[in-house]
Amino acid sequence: MSELRTEISRRRTFAIISHPDAGKTTLTEKFLLYGGAIAQAGEVKGKRARAATSDWMEIEKQRGISVTSSVLQFQHSGFCINILDTPGHQDFSEDTYRTLMAADSAVMVIDGAKGVEPQTRKLFRVCAIRHIPIFTFINKMDRETKDPLELCEEVERELGIDTYAVNWPIGSGKEFQGVYDREKQRILFFQAEERGKKVGSAEVALDDPALEDMIGAQKAAALREEVELLGAGREFDMEAVRNGTLSPVFFGSALTTFGVEPFLEEFLRMTTPPLPRVSDQGEVDVFSEDFSAFVFKIQANMNKAHRDRLAFMRICSGKFERDTEYFHVQGNKKLRLSQPQQMMAAEREIIDEAYAGDIIGVFDPGIFSIGDTVTVPGKKFKFSGIPTFEPEHFMRVSPKDTMKRKQFIKGTEQIAQEGAIQIFKLPGAGLEEVIVGVVGTLQFDVFQYRMRSEYGVELYMEGLPYEHLRVITACPCKPEDLVLCTGAALLEDFKGRLLVAFGGEWSVGFLTKHNPGLELAESLSV
Ligand code: GDP
Repeated sequence: MSELRTEISRRRTFAIISHPDAGKTTLTEKFLLYGGAIAQAGEVKGKRARAATSDWMEIEKQRGISVTSSVLQFQHSGFCINILDTPGHQDFSEDTYRTLMAADSAVMVIDGAKGVEPQTRKLFRVCAIRHIPIFTFINKMDRETKDPLELCEEVERELGIDTYAVNWPIGSGKEFQGVYDREKQRILFFQAEERGKKVGSAEVALDDPALEDMIGAQKAAALREEVELLGAGREFDMEAVRNGTLSPVFFGSALTTFGVEPFLEEFLRMTTPPLPRVSDQGEVDVFSEDFSAFVFKIQANMNKAHRDRLAFMRICSGKFERDTEYFHVQGNKKLRLSQPQQMMAAEREIIDEAYAGDIIGVFDPGIFSIGDTVTVPGKKFKFSGIPTFEPEHFMRVSPKDTMKRKQFIKGTEQIAQEGAIQIFKLPGAGLEEVIVGVVGTLQFDVFQYRMRSEYGVELYMEGLPYEHLRVITACPCKPEDLVLCTGAALLEDFKGRLLVAFGGEWSVGFLTKHNPGLELAESLSV
């Protein structure tokens, strides 16, 4: 195999999705420990400091950390692994969703006591759009948890994905004894593991009487019954895993490192190498000699003295080499990518080369937009863009000083163009006042801060009660004659499209019932 092919084939690029506190950071850290990328737990924090406050200035101070944690690369068992960080606490934002566009699979961490939580659901939906494989790690088995069968059912019911339990827990909380690996017919005994120390295990068939001696009669009976129930259900189907309709489920405890290594091994065995991406000229061959990438995230520098930004790209084909001339398709310009960098665990390094599947951050003098394609000179295809995600929080915004109208418009438009906020207006209204929509509320703080520091504009901001936004694709009457429910409003975006903003999901039913012929698109990317 050529070097290019070998390097690309061993890449695995995935995101860890979860609701805050389910154990994403802990699990990531344990992965890195196995990969030898960090020496001890506690190094991937940063998050701690960030989570402690929603004060924007604090976050700015921590900026270096949030940059370094955008993607972590490490080696394990011959694989080159890229873990994409999906910010989860107050800094949950559209970027979180966009980052998922750069992944080839996802690990979904669920707190065994809590089950499927709101943020898991949102992130899952975004992964499901692309049908990427999703692996479930049910965490905190060392604590009291919900019934494991119920947990699997909950995942299936709430997320609409089939599950296949690869291993099965024996008790939980104080009674937790370990997990039973169904394929290997082996018990892994629970014990809080120190690094390097192997967990005790024993091979035993379920119908072997020795099982009683190992875990007690009661637990043996329960395990037999439950695994039999599972056996009567679904077969393992790799094809279904690969197209995202079947999620392999693993039980474990990230904090005590129990079940982490078997999970990582199985995950690496089952997940895919870099997946081909689609462009306007068809699918792009991952192993092509020609480099190509798309921009999925732009991070503005919060330091006023440095207006530069970092553009994060996912490499989709070939090899990236430093000091080589590339082509920015949307800008129709040849360019060299300056200061290409990658994050290796806790450190940020300038790199000389990277391969399809990898993520690089490059210095952006303000030329890139989210979704842009970079190729080699002579190739002009564009990767299909990154969807626009539905904002969930809205504010009415205007400048305090009406003399600052020009700066106000310039600033809001630029910040929207970078993808940090979405902007709308009331139909027919001017730009003295805009409606700003965001996915995570911290984006309001960022917006306000940047408007003040970069554009010198103080803002009036007033919260609006909307939670959803849909594009109107067919309107049976004049828009102003539509029957709207209370708390709903018509908005217009800057492409001139008409949208309706509203509160609860139920409003969709009301709107379509009272306005026959009204059609609302499911996605904002229509
Ligand atoms: P994140 O918000 O998803 O990144 O969650 P963290 O990894 O920061 O974990 C949240 C809290 O749960 C921390 O106090 C962890 O120590 C704890 N935690 C994580 N995994 C486990 C586990 O397996 N068992 C127990 N008992 N606690 C855990």
